[in-house]
Amino acid sequence: MTANKAGQTVKAAVKAKDISEGILRHLQQSLGVEMEEAGPAEFWEALSLVVREIDLQRIRATRKKERENKARRVYYLSLEFLVGRLLSNNLHNLGIFKEAEKALSEMGVSLTDVLEHEADPSLGNGGLGRLAACFMDSLATLDTPAIGYGINYRFGLFRQSFAGGRQVETPDGWREDSFPWGIERPKRKQLIKLYGRVAEHAGKAVWEDTRSVLGMPWDVPVTGYNTETVNTLRLWESRATEGFDLNSFDAGRYQDSRSQEITAENISQVLYPNDNHPAGKELRLIQQYFFVACSMADLIDRYKRENGDGWDHFADKVVMQLNDTHPAIAVAELIRILLDEEDFKFPDALVLCRKVFAYTNHTLLPEALEKWPQRLIARVLPRHMQIIHMINYHFLHSEVDAVWPGDDSMKRRLSIIEEPDRPGDDQMVRMAYLSVIGSNKVNGVAAIHSKLVQDMLFPEFHRIWPDKIVNVTNGVTPRRWLDHCNPELAELIDNSIEGDWRGELDLLSDLKPFANDEAFQRKFAEIKLNNKRKLAAIIKELCNIEVNPEAIFDVQIKRLHEYKRQQLNLLHIMALYRRLLENPNLDVPPRVFIFGAKAAPGYLVAKSIIHAINRLADRINNDRRIKDKIKVVFIPNYRVSLAERIIPAADVSEQISTAGFEASGTGNMKMALNGALTVGTMDGANVEIAEEVGDDNIFIFGMTVDGVSELRSRGYNAWDVYHASDELKSVIDWLGSGDLSPEEPDAFKPIVESLLDRGDYFLTLADYQAYSDAHDRIVQTWKNPREWWRKAIINTASMGKFSSDRSIADYNRTIWNMK
Ligand SMILES: *Cc1c(COP(=O)(O)O)cnc(C)c1O
Repeated sequence: MTANKAGQTVKAAVKAKDISEGILRHLQQSLGVEMEEAGPAEFWEALSLVVREIDLQRIRATRKKERENKARRVYYLSLEFLVGRLLSNNLHNLGIFKEAEKALSEMGVSLTDVLEHEADPSLGNGGLGRLAACFMDSLATLDTPAIGYGINYRFGLFRQSFAGGRQVETPDGWREDSFPWGIERPKRKQLIKLYGRVAEHAGKAVWEDTRSVLGMPWDVPVTGYNTETVNTLRLWESRATEGFDLNSFDAGRYQDSRSQEITAENISQVLYPNDNHPAGKELRLIQQYFFVACSMADLIDRYKRENGDGWDHFADKVVMQLNDTHPAIAVAELIRILLDEEDFKFPDALVLCRKVFAYTNHTLLPEALEKWPQRLIARVLPRHMQIIHMINYHFLHSEVDAVWPGDDSMKRRLSIIEEPDRPGDDQMVRMAYLSVIGSNKVNGVAAIHSKLVQDMLFPEFHRIWPDKIVNVTNGVTPRRWLDHCNPELAELIDNSIEGDWRGELDLLSDLKPFANDEAFQRKFAEIKLNNKRKLAAIIKELCNIEVNPEAIFDVQIKRLHEYKRQQLNLLHIMALYRRLLENPNLDVPPRVFIFGAKAAPGYLVAKSIIHAINRLADRINNDRRIKDKIKVVFIPNYRVSLAERIIPAADVSEQISTAGFEASGTGNMKMALNGALTVGTMDGANVEIAEEVGDDNIFIFGMTVDGVSELRSRGYNAWDVYHASDELKSVIDWLGSGDLSPEEPDAFKPIVESLLDRGDYFLTLADYQAYSDAHDRIVQTWKNPREWWRKAIINTASMGKFSSDRSIADYNRTIWNMK
């Protein structure tokens, strides 16, 4: 039952009968089919259109209320929103899931089948984009006035399949059939400029000879849980403008075979498939500026509509959150508008800018910190490059100089412009520095990560502004990641504790008294087993592999990256297999190792790891000698809708990054919430998960951040570890031998080289033994079911902190100053 804070129901007053009538109306009038001819895809679209009508009505009411309250609004700028399927989420949030089920079943149609017909909008790579989607859910749930701004990519993240075990990428034209959730808003289109040059007229800078691109907004309604608030996710699509098309522009420049052709339309064409690694392509910079400029113009228009022309109240009404440095050019864009279009003086413009921006840092990885060639920015956005120099000059000569007077090496170190190591190379613009300097607050995404941002990444900035860098630990929405994806567990919780845990996740702690209750444990275990049976059927269908639902389901699902260390998992499975071959009667429970991961198409080592896991899976799954004690499955095309099937079925959650490299992780939270036990390093949010569940209820292993830096300063030699361990040596030799890929014996050389010849930067070998020991502890615990299920229940009961509602409440309080 959904009841709002005042106790009255906020369910949409919609009955099954209204829904059936709406479906019939849309089948006939919107889709032009009779009910008898309609298949699940048509029913999906018709039902979505019915729900959309309710959303739109509520959006208007939300906007009206916000205008009356003259509230501050949060603008969440993100190049990625990994929203996942929307129909089921909307039905749940509006409280009409059951009514919709009834309406369809009276028409002889199954809602479950219909829901499967929704394409999964993959407008993001991984955790960063999914976080933005969870935050949109919680912003609406907490009635925070908010608009998300991003790009309506024609092609989302590629679809992944395997050929001979190798990753194959195909385009994901996700909205080709139809996307009823996105509503085009031509009235709110924007025209933005690119290229050209800066002239001076009457003492004012004028950006002229530019090319124009049109930004068309598509609005996606975002419902919250147990509230009438519906917010908007506004996604920009690029279009050519009449007369000023980029197509005809300077064709000569693109003779150069290295550069892709850039046209007005292809700006919003594809999502770059790199996770934690910037592409450095001109089109990517233009994407960033395109969505930032459209969004900035849009929010300024809205501010003026609601508040009149003056800028006095701007900072009270507007706060922009930069999700990573991808939208960092917004800092220069706002100052450009204030200087060139609004008669501000530079110091006042910078002061205002610093009141309205906040920046979320997602990574410490040096190669993931965005830098753009100064020459590229100067060519694409000449006025912005000038403004970046103005910001930099002010920063170095008044702010840095005040703390380190006359210290030129410090100025060089902190400059937004990085000087090249070799003369003649490009100067680079450090987008993270621009973001820090332009923002009011900077946040890391888990406690340990924020501390490292203060002490290791930006120590000097922390000296200058000791209150600027703060922590907001990430969270996930318990609606999608427990209620919707694990309805049986949700029901068990409903029957066991009081109160609205979906809206107040801390209430889950009331489950703790049941942790040792045998009857409750049985029910909890039975639900997990049911979820595993369902996943086993999916694995059979997608991979044609039979897995035993009674086995331990050991899950590693996340982008493929060496720092996430899927290769550690791989080496360990190889060792387990060899142990079983040596001793087929080993007393170990059956285990299924489940992977889901996409590798960036240009990331060769990552692709080689996928290939190796698939080849190993073939070998192990077909070896009768080990009597099904181990199975390995790599489920293709990992994405939100698959995560929703895998997570409720996980017994073990693999969170094994090198300490200091995973900023937070959110997959770790989702799996623990659904009763999986974590095997993990002291990294990212694992640290806080361990704190919440207690050391006895998590399998922590391996080096800490301090251990990593000590080892590095002592001098780490991967070969030493290799020579010291017979087991490790034998599996690495096997991996390099070509035995798993006889037709291409060198296929896994990139992995072996990374582990040995190139020094094992992510310390995989250094953590191997500790990891193997942790797995031994997992097996021992599994052999005692009462102990296992007690720990699993305590995990679910301890995840209250990791609701994205708590994250948003933290942002509201510590960063956005929302009332
Ligand atoms: C939660 C989620 C992620 C993030 O997983 P991590 O383990 O935190 O890296 C990535 N992709 C999808 C589809 C997700 O749902």
